[in-house]
Amino acid sequence: MKPVKNRIFCRAVKHTKMLFETQEKAENFIRFNRDEILQSHGKAPCRCYYCFFCMGWHVTSNPSPEEGILLDQRDEALAKNLREKYLKRKEKISPIPRPKLMRYAFYEQMRLADVHISLFDVEKAECCMSECRRILQEEELEWHKKDSMIAHYQHQCVILNGLRSLLADENALPDEQLMKSPIYKICANNLSVLKEIDASYEELMDLAQAGSPQFPKARNVHVSLIARIKGICKEQLKAGRMKRAYEAEEIYQTILNNRRDDEESP
Ligand SMILES: [Zn+2]
Repeated sequence: MKPVKNRIFCRAVKHTKMLFETQEKAENFIRFNRDEILQSHGKAPCRCYYCFFCMGWHVTSNPSPEEGILLDQRDEALAKNLREKYLKRKEKISPIPRPKLMRYAFYEQMRLADVHISLFDVEKAECCMSECRRILQEEELEWHKKDSMIAHYQHQCVILNGLRSLLADENALPDEQLMKSPIYKICANNLSVLKEIDASYEELMDLAQAGSPQFPKARNVHVSLIARIKGICKEQLKAGRMKRAYEAEEIYQTILNNRRDDEESP
């Protein structure tokens, strides 16, 4: 019988060998297959040994235990060598140092603040900013990165304040200085577009409920207003408004259908 089971490529002998989980299993294999293998191959396994590479037991037809010990020593040295190389490589791929992680966390909070600002959620943006403030107070932070982090933080605070005053006073005009900042500019533009959309929606609903022939044109104007919403959160801001526009459309169609039914019935 030619052994075919449990075959594995052994790095010590550089060819495939049978691998056994325990010494007992290897010895049993020899005991039960020895004669058959000897008959068909002319030589048969007579001894088993532990392999440092495969971390299990192989069988061999080399009868000399002395030679076996020498081979074991060779394998052990080889395995040790490989292990050392592996550890050295692992050392090079060191984990990310804490100051760097804190800096990542800082910019992640800044990015989140951008999202909340874009959705006009001043309170949530303020939470992100207070987390940024906490990180800036960490003593471990790399001093040479700190200046630009503080500059970013201060700039974001100014934008947040600008947004706050825009939201507080309906008639407030956008801050000209801040209009140079892309996120503030988009926010200010979106705010004025949203006001237009809300005003246009009221008219649109009146036209829909009246089944007015002016409705289709007004709906197109309304939808093109919604398309003017810009920025990283435009889809979220658009979604609710588009839903309202569809609802108005449905009301309009229902009124038209009812009217047609009334005309057709005698
Ligand atoms: Zn092996």
